Order: sequence, then structure tokens, then C-alpha cells
Amino acid sequence: MSSMSAKKTAIVVGTGAGGAMIARELQGRFQVTMLEAGKDFRPFSLPIGKMAGLRRSGLFLDERMIRLLLPNMLVEKTADMVLVRGIGTGGTTTLATGNAVRCDESLKEIGIDLDPEFDELYHELPITCDHQARWTDTTRRMFRIFEEMGLAPVVTPKLLNAPQCVGCGHCAIGCPTGAKWDARALVEEALAKGATLVTQCRVTDLRIRGKNVTEVRARERGRQVSYQADLVILAAGGLGTPVILERSGIPCSASLFVDPVLCVAGPLPGIRQDRQILMPFISQQPGYILSPYMDYLSFFFNRDWRLPMRDIASVMIKLADEERGRTDGKKIDKTMSAADRANMEKALSQSREILARIGVAEKDQFLGTLNAGHPGGMLPLSPLEKDSLHHPALPEDLYVADASILPKAMGNPPILTIMALAKRIAKKLA
Ligand SMILES: Cc1cc2nc3c(=O)[nH]c(=O)nc-3n(C[C@H](O)[C@H](O)[C@H](O)COP(=O)(O)OP(=O)(O)OC[C@H]3O[C@@H](n4cnc5c(N)ncnc54)[C@H](O)[C@@H]3O)c2cc1C
Repeated sequence: MSSMSAKKTAIVVGTGAGGAMIARELQGRFQVTMLEAGKDFRPFSLPIGKMAGLRRSGLFLDERMIRLLLPNMLVEKTADMVLVRGIGTGGTTTLATGNAVRCDESLKEIGIDLDPEFDELYHELPITCDHQARWTDTTRRMFRIFEEMGLAPVVTPKLLNAPQCVGCGHCAIGCPTGAKWDARALVEEALAKGATLVTQCRVTDLRIRGKNVTEVRARERGRQVSYQADLVILAAGGLGTPVILERSGIPCSASLFVDPVLCVAGPLPGIRQDRQILMPFISQQPGYILSPYMDYLSFFFNRDWRLPMRDIASVMIKLADEERGRTDGKKIDKTMSAADRANMEKALSQSREILARIGVAEKDQFLGTLNAGHPGGMLPLSPLEKDSLHHPALPEDLYVADASILPKAMGNPPILTIMALAKRIAKKLA
């Protein structure tokens, strides 16, 4: 594509972890336009207690109805799990629990060393473990139990302006005080540097001629529109980008991972785990992590979770699943494999023991709803692309900068790693 202006132009599709970062980095060297399918993010603002009272009313029949309460949260279902992502400015980072974990082993394995980019991130972002000073007695007790069981818990670094955190536990439904950092800050920075943001603009496909993208086609507030630029970056997320690519005639691989999550919970009157930052510490185990977590989806939609939130103790298991699955935009094919289930069984028995040690008898324990929120891997980088970071199936002026290019499931919070990768891609493009 050619540009009439002196400065080259770039379109970034999606404003989540990867998109917002690369837009911020490229603006200045390119004139950037961000195309975002959703609206501005709005946190959940209704009183949880009153909403919880409605759980028996039949209002909360299906997890997909969460959009009535939290319009930026999109929930989809596969045969055996519920998939969650954020649609709107900031993407899924607005629903994140703020964990800032470096998990780039699979990138290192293929020869991509992101040390410089992680260093930059540690300087630029409010990453802190200061929340530990405000842990409740319950959290401290849980931490000790993890230690006693040899689970080597580590305090979770958080994307957090700690003094503003009121410990309300609402991190994953939108931080009400703005204490939690999310990628909207990068969108703002890109805009301040002169970029443009178009919301409610869902990119459908690309027109490609030879080695170039000639058109980015989208539905914008009910109208069919078309954009052109010298460079196009897809960052519509692990379930968004593959659909755009396939509709544009570029096949992706059936290697979708999602990091399935299952909570083990039980009654413990007055534990008030709901009044604690989510995932205050993490235990890294082979193939999964364990961490205290209050699961809002299960609380509202799972019939076993009928207790008041203040009386529920809950431990989360997050698996690195087998990279097997795909989406075509109409349907998401993703189920737990036999290996995933075997891993989950091991994690379940450890979680049951944690809860038993904190005072929840095994007979009273119940499970949450199997869900997942880390989709990626359908255009995985291989050692051949370790320098170019450009998949050979893509036209020369098209890059992908989101979880789709991660080579393997990490079973770990990926935001920091996706942003480091987006930074590296921006450097290549500069
Ligand atoms: C409840 C929850 C908690 C989480 N907590 C953490 C955490 O604490 N730490 C962590 O590291 N990770 C966490 N994650 C995961 C993390 O948020 C995501 O893995 C990460 O944001 C993915 O980044 P991305 O750039 O690939 O996509 P996203 O951040 O999902 O961004 C994709 C963007 O593309 C837009 N989009 C989609 N389709 C289109 C289209 N067709 N046209 C235009 N725009 C489009 C979306 O609206 C969105 O803005 C959590 C996830 C969930 C669900």
C-alpha cells in the first residue's frame, strides 16, 4: 500500500496487551490508527451482595449472560469449558487480576531472548509486590499452608498502584479505583502522541494482493468500511486474530491453547477471601499453577456456589493445556485432552488438601466451572522466525502481535510476555 503523507501509516487491530503496546511504540515513527471492536471499558458497578441475592431468581442461567452486568466481558462456550475475553479498549487486560509474571521459556527455547524488553517493562510499568503488606490473616495463613506442603509459593508481582488499592477483590470484574494498571494506559499514551482510536470497529478480513495487504475491511457502527495503511498489525487476541486471518485466506494451525482454570472451593464462614487482592501468591508446579482466587463466574452461575461470597474459601488451578484446538469464528473447538485431565487430577488432590488444612472438610468441598481466559497459539512462532518475528504465511506488510504467536501454552499469566514480544516487533518495524 502507498501513503500520500510523508509519515508512513500503520493500522493496529485490537487494543489489548499486544495491540496497545505496539500502537504506543509505533506512534511517532508511524501514524497509527487503532481499530477496536468494542466500546470503552466500564467496570462492574452494581453491588455484588444485592446481585448475589438474585442468584436463585433464574437471572443467572448461563455464563454468557454476564454481558448484561459487564458489557466488555465476552463469554463463549465449548463442549466442556467457558471461555472469557475482554472486548473493548484495553482488551482482556481490563479483566485481568494484574499479575505481572515473566513466562517466556517457550520463546527462549526457540531462540528469542526478550531480556531487554522485560527490563524496559520493569522500568515503565507499576510492577509491585507491595500488596503483601496489606494481606489479610487468611491470606497469610494460606501462604503458610502452601509452604508447609512444599508448594513454594511466591508473592505475585502485580501491575498495581498499590496505595490506591482498597483490597475489594474486584480485580477481574474491573478495578473500581483505577489502582490496577491495564493496557488502556498505553492506548492513552498512543493517543497523546497523536494516534487515532476508532472504537466499535470490528475488523472482518483483509484484502491481500501479492505480498501486500491492500485493504483492512471492517464493520463500524453498522457500516461496512475499509482502511488502508503501509503496515497492518493484527492484535485481536488469540480468538480474534485467527478468525481475521482465515477469512483473509491465511490458514492458521489447530494449535489453540487456553490455560484452563478450575477452582476448588468450600464453606469457611467469615473467611472473607473476597476482600483480598486476587491471586496474591502463586505456586508454580510442573504443568500448572495454584493460587487463591475468588471465581466470580462460578459464584454467579454455578449452582454449587450458593453460599455468600464472604464464606467461600477457594483455590485456583490453572493448567498449561495441550496445544490442540481451533476457532473459525462460528465455533470454538477446544476440549481438555487426556493429558490435561491427568494433570488436573494431580492439581485437584493438592488443592483439596490445601482447603482441608485451612479448615474445609473434603466432603464439603465443591468445584467451580471449568473456564479459561488465555487463548493463543494458532500462529505460533518457530525457530525459523526467531529474528523476523514474521510468520512466512503472512504478507510482507502484515504482522501479528498478540497471544496468537506464542509457541506454547504457559499455564501462567501472559500479559507481560505478550507486551515484551510486541515491543520487540515494534523495534523490528522501526
Ligand atoms: C479473568 C481473567 C483474568 C486474567 N488475569 C491475568 C493476569 O492477571 N495477568 C496476565 O498476565 N494475564 C491475565 N489474563 C490473560 C490476559 O488478559 C490475556 O491473555 C491478554 O490480555 C491477551 O492479550 P492479547 O493482546 O492477545 O489479546 P486481548 O488483550 O484480548 O486484546 C484483543 C483486543 O482485540 C479486540 N478485538 C477482537 N476482535 C477484534 C476485531 N475483529 N476487530 C477489532 N478488534 C478486535 C478486543 O476487543 C481486544 O481489545 C486474564 C484473563 C482473564 C479472562
